[in-house]
Amino acid sequence: MSDSIRTPDVHINLNIRGMKPSATVAINERCNELIKQGREVFKLGLGQSPFPVPGVIVDELKSNAWQKDYLPVKGLRQLREAVADYHRRGEGCASTHEDVLIGPGSKELMFLLQLVYYGDIVIPTPAWVSYAPQARIIGRNVQFLPTEPAHDWLMTAQQLADHCADDPDRPRLVVLNYPSNPTGRTYSPEQLEEIAAVAKRHKLLILSDEIYGELHHEGKHVSISRYYPQGTIISSGLSKWCGAGGWRLGTFTFPRQLRWLQDAMASVASETYTSTSAPIQHAAVRAFKGGTEIERYLWRARRVLKQLGGWIAGNLEQAGIKTLAPQGAFYLFPDFGPLRERLRARGITRSNVLCDRLLEETGVAILPGDDFGRPRDELTARLAYVDFDGARAMSALESDENANVDDDFLFTHCPNVLNATKRICAWAAA
Ligand code: GLU
Repeated sequence: MSDSIRTPDVHINLNIRGMKPSATVAINERCNELIKQGREVFKLGLGQSPFPVPGVIVDELKSNAWQKDYLPVKGLRQLREAVADYHRRGEGCASTHEDVLIGPGSKELMFLLQLVYYGDIVIPTPAWVSYAPQARIIGRNVQFLPTEPAHDWLMTAQQLADHCADDPDRPRLVVLNYPSNPTGRTYSPEQLEEIAAVAKRHKLLILSDEIYGELHHEGKHVSISRYYPQGTIISSGLSKWCGAGGWRLGTFTFPRQLRWLQDAMASVASETYTSTSAPIQHAAVRAFKGGTEIERYLWRARRVLKQLGGWIAGNLEQAGIKTLAPQGAFYLFPDFGPLRERLRARGITRSNVLCDRLLEETGVAILPGDDFGRPRDELTARLAYVDFDGARAMSALESDENANVDDDFLFTHCPNVLNATKRICAWAAA
């Protein structure tokens, strides 16, 4: 055996050397390991929908299990039509099936986009854990735009304009994710319109990650594509609103002007994964067609997420942990900064230490702000409030549509999340 085989680090791609598994994936595996060892763990790390896949979509998957052929690289025609229709209904997009690209999860499509598009990747932070590592793997230049809690952790149009002023014509891909993972906050239509004006001025490409769009707690999600259709790629999928993360199905919808980009991505797809799972694509047609069952499902999911998110934010605030109540998705981004001195006395000065100690001392798993592109010494963290039996909560609301989703409901159906919150509060106050 040669030396080089015994020291594989020497031959690893320099962009990947030292890279660890994604924080979201790693925390999930760590929690499962601790549970196996008999530890009590509150799983608020991985952002996985607590709700089941709607029954009508599961039925569709069952009846398509026999589909065995490779499908076209850009996706099943009926699914591409259903996705284009879905965006036409929701956002008034002028898209047709030709504008849609299907992939095995939007995460993979984002990777392909970054690979194919040559330009800076501009990421407002805090941001989902994988955008920047994907850029690093490919060797793209990343520009972080740090946001502030005073602006709801959202990028302002002015901030983007200031960033572009340095080199106005530079090719840039701006990643906007709203409702946001990790903060649960979202942009108003006015804010989107202002950002769109800057994007138009500088011919920016916008990757609009709207995977949580349907989980806007009031059902009022608006896409920036309304204001900047020519430069916006809408990213969506089944993972969050349909509770089907493990099915791995994502969609990109392009403006016609960007067909060259879509085609280039499809070429790379054809040389890598060939096509997305056939039975899953057939089932997804049902999901994107929508209808009453799916609307009812979403209505119930939103009610639970809104009430639960508000409850947690209120309790954390009372304990002195600054937390904005979420407007969508199932995340909160608490800031333990006001308790800094007390935490420092316990040897906690960084967000990763904060989360390690919290898990060790209370069993509550959350992810450090550091993983979301925030400074290491900022004591922020992401809490994914998903450790509850969503199927049970849903069926309680199914059997009584008028049931109040109040504190009693949360105590009955989301006890782990409530207990975890209480533990965080008590731990931080100790
Ligand atoms: N998007 C989810 C999260 O942020 C999980 C899946 C992933 O990161 O790939 O936790």
